[in-house]
Amino acid sequence: MLTKDLAICIRAIDYSETSQIVSFFTRAAGKIDAIAKGSKRPKSPFDGPIEVLSHGNIVFVDSGGEKLATLTEFQQQPALINLRNNLFMLYACLFAAELMNNLTHDYDPHPELFDGFLEFLHNANEQDSTSDQQRDILALLILFQLTLLREIGLQPILSHCVNCKTSHDLRAARPELYFSSSANGLICRDCEPGFPDKIRLTKAASACLVAFKQIPGSAEKTLMEIEKVLVQHLTGLLGRTPKMAKHILQG
Ligand SMILES: [Zn+2]
Repeated sequence: MLTKDLAICIRAIDYSETSQIVSFFTRAAGKIDAIAKGSKRPKSPFDGPIEVLSHGNIVFVDSGGEKLATLTEFQQQPALINLRNNLFMLYACLFAAELMNNLTHDYDPHPELFDGFLEFLHNANEQDSTSDQQRDILALLILFQLTLLREIGLQPILSHCVNCKTSHDLRAARPELYFSSSANGLICRDCEPGFPDKIRLTKAASACLVAFKQIPGSAEKTLMEIEKVLVQHLTGLLGRTPKMAKHILQG
């Protein structure tokens, strides 16, 4: 059966001299793996070899999920060209693609996650090269990761202590909060001794996790602290550290 869909390439590996196996996150079908026959030939039917983060309209022959789909058309949208000129921007987008590949299941559609992922790529690509560029990209990346976790049903609990359900009072004199990956959320000072994996958060990082709207305006140091917490959390979920994480945490 021929299927048309909007798609973003999240993985591409060489299969032979002339062909690739590509993973797409599609809007209507979710993640698919497909063989792109002849994609590396000079006159490729897909506008040249398919690169991770390329996106556009695809047509593929669905195998029913039993084996690889076969890609028959890929009309690529203009490449996100700025990504190729800024390493941190590129790493952030490749990190997002890696998470999409590893945290979603084949043929499990999430149209809103597709839209959020594409919006993240466009927003990252459009960041001006100002002194705050790295901070702005980090903010976008953190918000994307929180969207991803929500869409796949793994939203961390951030509105109250996971353990005792007490709501956070960030105005209090000692509003210490901790993030525990095993608890999937924030833990208060009274409960933290019971969670050996907890990470203590600064007041600024706690405030961002309790109210996401504070994320875009936060200092780069605070955002890097949150990103470290998210990487540790994602490492727990995946059972290994995401490959691209070191490029983000090195700044
Ligand atoms: Zn508590």
